Amino acid sequence: MKKNVVVLGSSGSIGKNTVKVLQQLPERFSVYGLAVKESVEIAAEQARLLDCRNLVAADKFSAEKLRALVPENCFCSYGEEALIDLVTAPEVDIVVCSIVGTAGLLPVLSALKAGKRIALASKEVMVMAGDLVNAELDAGHGSIVPVDSEHSALFQCLNNRPPEEVSKLIITASGGAFRDWSSAEIARATVKDALNHPVWAMGSKVTIDSATLMNKALEIVEAGMLFRMESSKIDVVIHPQSLVHSMVEMADGSVIAQLSQPDMRFAIQYALTYPERADGLLPKLDLATVGRLDFMEPDRKKYPSLDLAYAALSAGGTLPAVMNAANEVAVEAFIRGEVNVPTIWRCIEKVMEKHQVQKLDTVATAVAADCAARIAAAEFIKNNRI
Ligand code: MG
Repeated sequence: MKKNVVVLGSSGSIGKNTVKVLQQLPERFSVYGLAVKESVEIAAEQARLLDCRNLVAADKFSAEKLRALVPENCFCSYGEEALIDLVTAPEVDIVVCSIVGTAGLLPVLSALKAGKRIALASKEVMVMAGDLVNAELDAGHGSIVPVDSEHSALFQCLNNRPPEEVSKLIITASGGAFRDWSSAEIARATVKDALNHPVWAMGSKVTIDSATLMNKALEIVEAGMLFRMESSKIDVVIHPQSLVHSMVEMADGSVIAQLSQPDMRFAIQYALTYPERADGLLPKLDLATVGRLDFMEPDRKKYPSLDLAYAALSAGGTLPAVMNAANEVAVEAFIRGEVNVPTIWRCIEKVMEKHQVQKLDTVATAVAADCAARIAAAEFIKNNRI
């Protein structure tokens, strides 16, 4: 039986790659729905390619533009309620969530409640509301297969073994654009420098997060929440080739690693076909051609991001959401040229320090912590411009 898939955020880089994977596996999947913010031309083209009839945009204006671009038998709607209706429709089996920011929260929780499998690419969901997601999973509602390459690797290496058999999660990091830079050079780095990622081609926010290692910080929290692992059992190792996507050290000392070419379609395809594997025409890895794999310890003084993540994960509750929100505000300020890289880190640290951690029991609590952190971060930026 074919599985019905919905892709939230189909116009972004994960979304476009998901569409490529779905196009290669038409015997396994039908595309039930697509959602975009305002990139309606892309959505219309994808709907045509995939013969998809249900489309959602963020607002009324975009939905009307979209309606004019698609055949009459396509159903176009907009807004959060439409998104929730789409992901909870009885026909749907799998929801790929690659919406940026907080917009993915309610749809993911609703889809889980409706028993769907979530192929989760949006880090924010586990970082902001991991406790809420885990409460749904504990209640027996739905399932999650991670799409972030590191977490897909961890998921594959863990292979559903119980926690007592696992001694450590080892997340690999490319090291980002500033891998070989000194602290003084990082302090002078421009947006263009930060956008020069050595391996992965991604959006500008996540590329800057890679350069500051805040991407890795978010991934530490994401791993802790997804695999329910305490912060002391999560390590980061710099691996410049980005071929080992992460590793798990088992209780007996064996280390299991997952390797592939650095192409996000591997993790996307696995999340869709899990527990099966399919020949999806992805590029094979030839280790003899690669020759060598290098690993180095990250410099935690040069990159405060990792310690911020360990602090956020240990405290739990609303603190990871606060770390994420402060980072987003600081990165936007960096892109506007208002602050340098060290100020991004200081901003996150200060906003986290001032935050009173609360238990995370509702979406409203997460959103309120997110909003308060954004206000505090904006205030910090205002006082610390270049
Ligand atoms: Mg990643």
